[in-house]
Amino acid sequence: MASRLLFRSAVRAFTRTGAVRAAAPARYMAAGGIPSDEEQATGLEKEIMTALKRGEDPYNMLKPKNYKGTKEDPHIVPSVNNQRIVGCICEEENTAVVWFWLHKGEAQRCPNCGAHYKLVPQHHHHH
Ligand SMILES: [Zn+2]
Repeated sequence: MASRLLFRSAVRAFTRTGAVRAAAPARYMAAGGIPSDEEQATGLEKEIMTALKRGEDPYNMLKPKNYKGTKEDPHIVPSVNNQRIVGCICEEENTAVVWFWLHKGEAQRCPNCGAHYKLVPQHHHHH
C-alpha cells in the first residue's frame, strides 16, 4: 500500500511539473520483455515444421492431394467451430507456413498463393 501511495504522489508531482511527457518513452522499454504475437507464431511454426518432418500433421494443415485448391475445388477444412486457423504451405518446397483465419461460409484464399480453402463444420458426438 505504501508504495502505491508513493507512486500516486509521484505521478501527481510529474503531472504538475509537466515531466510526464519526458517520462513517456519508458513505457516502450517496459513492453520489451513481452513476446509479440509474431514471436509466438514463429514458435508455433517451428513446432509444426518439426512435427511435419516426423511425418505428423497435428493441425491437419497439409493440403489433401485430391483437392486442386481452385474456386471450384477448394481445400476442405473440417472444423468444429465457425472459424479456425489454417496453415498453408504454398509450395511443397516451402519452409515457411502462411497462416490465416478461415471462416464458415464462402471459400477463402490463401493471401500468399491464392489457394482456395473452405471451412466445413463438423460435429463430434461423444458417447
Ligand atoms: Zn498458400
